[in-house]
Amino acid sequence: MIIKPKIRGFICTTAHPLGCAKQVQRQIQYAREQKTVQGPKKVLVIGSSTGYGLASRIVATFAAKADTLGVFFEKPATDKRTATAGWYNTAAFEQAAKVAGRVALNINGDAFSTAIKEQAIDLIRKQFGTVDLVVYSLASPRRTHPLTGESLFSVIKPIGKPFTSKTIDINTGKLSQVTLEPANDDEIRQTIGVMGGEDWELWIRALSEAGVLANNAITVAYSYIGPEITFPMYREGTIGKAKDHLEATADRLNASLQNIGGRAFVSINKAVVTQSSSAIPVVPLYISILYKVMHEKGLYEGCVEQMYRLFADRLYAKDTESVDEKGRIRIDDKEMRPDVQSEVLHAWNSINQENLTALANLDEYRQEFLGLFGFDIDEIDYNEEVNPEVQMTL
Ligand code: NAD
Repeated sequence: MIIKPKIRGFICTTAHPLGCAKQVQRQIQYAREQKTVQGPKKVLVIGSSTGYGLASRIVATFAAKADTLGVFFEKPATDKRTATAGWYNTAAFEQAAKVAGRVALNINGDAFSTAIKEQAIDLIRKQFGTVDLVVYSLASPRRTHPLTGESLFSVIKPIGKPFTSKTIDINTGKLSQVTLEPANDDEIRQTIGVMGGEDWELWIRALSEAGVLANNAITVAYSYIGPEITFPMYREGTIGKAKDHLEATADRLNASLQNIGGRAFVSINKAVVTQSSSAIPVVPLYISILYKVMHEKGLYEGCVEQMYRLFADRLYAKDTESVDEKGRIRIDDKEMRPDVQSEVLHAWNSINQENLTALANLDEYRQEFLGLFGFDIDEIDYNEEVNPEVQMTL
């Protein structure tokens, strides 16, 4: 099959196996080149196939030399379709992990369900005994509630009043205004149900009751704050309410893990291009400007750089007390530096169609977006036939 990108709005419906493998190898190479992290040895990553979860798994395996179990929801190839990028990523990861002598177990299924939690517990018990780190990195537009069966949908909307902002169509490069109508109470409830902390708590409770959490185990979930220009839509909107819930869940989990000396953290990560972040209006324009400013200051970081810093300088550093006033780990520190934010804001206020390329790295954003699906990578010849069927151990 000759595989080219097919872009529909903010997603790409095809993925290239060799391109995805290259992207995974690049992250592995980065993790390998860093100082070894004296960290976890048996790790469960929930949401391990793309974005921050994949990078966490790579850092755990190649910088901390841990064995991992990854849980994700991806599709294999069919006669007519390529597999999803997360499928190809995981297959490439598994291959490299095995060569390095590390165990890499996979579960492909709905992490929100009770059945997948039970399957994971079973595998951990048989293969690892216990896990000493649980990374929770799910991002999903929907969740079937495991107890009520209700289908919950998450929306990205402001609360209380409409929000109008600049935005960009990444495909055409056209700037425009977008107005998001406020969410109603039920949309807020459902968004908290999908992206809040309930499922994280169910996972930790199930693992703990099954006795498969090691003494002193750590669990970490990911959150975002970002700049004031996105507050009405993100941090003070529906997703922000879900993140408030996730952060409050960390406090509850911390209390409940005390009996095993365990700890629960929320890490506030920086904005990066992932399948999830590209679906959020306004954010791609913000990231394009942010990238330009951070590159100019030599501060650029993608997922793997962020996750290495999380492991090496925060979770497994001697001084793990470096948290903010709400107890959150901040690896968005470089994004939120006052000099970075003031330059981003200045560009944001003055950006228009004419000065777009001077003020924002749109090409880099596009390249990273295509890269998520294994496209636009120098070493790959996209006119060559490639077998879309790639195996992994499930
Ligand atoms: P992503 O879309 O790249 O990854 C999501 C992962 O969740 C994938 O592995 C996917 O397979 C898995 N998944 C989704 N639904 C699932 C299901 N039902 N069962 C099993 N697996 C499922 O997302 P991301 O951007 O890496 O986001 C991960 C976390 O990081 C989220 O909490 C997000 O809010 C947070 N975060 C993201 C950014 C950013 O800029 N992207 C910034 C800060 C924090």
